[in-house]
Amino acid sequence: MRKILVLALLLVLPVVMNADRLIRIPAQTDSEFTVIRDMGYEIAAGSRHDGYVDILVNQRFVEEAMKKHPGARLLPLEWSELIPSDNGEMGYYYGPNDNAVFWSELAENNDMVDTPTSYGTSYQGRDLNFVRITNAPAGAPAILFTALTHAREPGGNSVVIDWAQWLTTEYGSDTMATFILDNAQIYIIPIVNPDGYAYNVPNPSSTDQRKNMNWTLGDGVDLNRNYSFMWGYDDSGSSPSPTAQTYRGTAALSEPETLAETQWIDSIQPLGGFHYHTYGGYLLFPYGYNNSATPHQSTFESWGNQMAAQNNYAVGRCGQILYDVNGDAVDWSYGADTHEPMLFYTPEVDDNGFWGSQNDTTLIVTNNLECRFMNKLLCMNLLSMVGIEEGSSAEFVDTVMELTLGSNPVSSVLSYTVTCAVPVSMSVLDVSGRVVASPSVGNWVIPEALQNGIYFLRAQGGNQTVSQRFTVLR
Ligand SMILES: [Zn+2]
Repeated sequence: MRKILVLALLLVLPVVMNADRLIRIPAQTDSEFTVIRDMGYEIAAGSRHDGYVDILVNQRFVEEAMKKHPGARLLPLEWSELIPSDNGEMGYYYGPNDNAVFWSELAENNDMVDTPTSYGTSYQGRDLNFVRITNAPAGAPAILFTALTHAREPGGNSVVIDWAQWLTTEYGSDTMATFILDNAQIYIIPIVNPDGYAYNVPNPSSTDQRKNMNWTLGDGVDLNRNYSFMWGYDDSGSSPSPTAQTYRGTAALSEPETLAETQWIDSIQPLGGFHYHTYGGYLLFPYGYNNSATPHQSTFESWGNQMAAQNNYAVGRCGQILYDVNGDAVDWSYGADTHEPMLFYTPEVDDNGFWGSQNDTTLIVTNNLECRFMNKLLCMNLLSMVGIEEGSSAEFVDTVMELTLGSNPVSSVLSYTVTCAVPVSMSVLDVSGRVVASPSVGNWVIPEALQNGIYFLRAQGGNQTVSQRFTVLR
């Protein structure tokens, strides 16, 4: 009996000894933030807005760190560590094999979904795959969603799986799903870093791999510091040290994962999209490298606030919410000179730690729903930006007629102005052309009974008609 006990202890002990733990330290002010950052901890998440920083420390140093920071809270082990469970390959998250099955079945059962296609090969020789979902004509604008650049952040993978499922299931019945797939090519990279993710499948030494598996110099390269725009600008949130969790690699795009991904993205030229990460509940936009505003700051900000209206994610540049980082995917997507600026955000899904929902489907579903709302609104905004279905006006020599919508698609009031030399009448039509309301000129309070979806506001004056598309999304 004693022998068996000792053996069991030996088997269990190494796992516990290697485990990293999350500690939540209260931090309200910039200086408290700076102090914690400069102590050299690995910062997992944190928000000035919510007043905390989560650091990841090895089990051996937990006691010491807790003593150093009064009010610190040790977060549950399963938030930082993937624990083998009966629920599947990675608890309720989709593991590498679960993903392979999901995406190939989705393609098999749906004409709008292409079979997963390789855009390159990872460091260890795995296929880097994308999936395209569309019912739009060739040449329709592309919108891209990526996940698992950091291998221990499966919450983002759950979101893109839910998104693909929703789009394909609701196509034909939900006006927005229909509109999006009829007008855009939706691209998804479910796993940017397949080597790291495979390594994390319940693994007796660690399930804490964030970086890729190029261990030539240390223990991997942080792919989200390896992109070529302002790579290695400084050492804030990006490290030259091969063992650091934010190690940026020996050169920009030194890693096969980032090189292949950027070349492929340049070939499809998306208007924008989301690079999904976890955790903390933020919606980040460029520039991250020096916390300066881009020329599209007001668009990033207003869209960001609209998208976060339901889930209350903190919206801003990385440097406003946490600290500057360079060489990440959103800065590259926006700023690289190989393409026009692409409007990408990094949502940090509001998961419990990295693996915190592994046994909690309720939280996974909640996160998915909150992010689905953002996905819809982002697509609608991006498609509006390029003027698809934009107002048309017939020639009428005596009258100049213009209809301008206010810029707040999540407001319950639709405001608009019409200029016309003759009296106008207004109507609201659904996508099938049915008149659903006849508002008066000026502001219109959207009735509660009007279902979420896409509508057209039409103004008629004399023999002239103009219309503008708008979205109701609650
Ligand atoms: Zn991440």
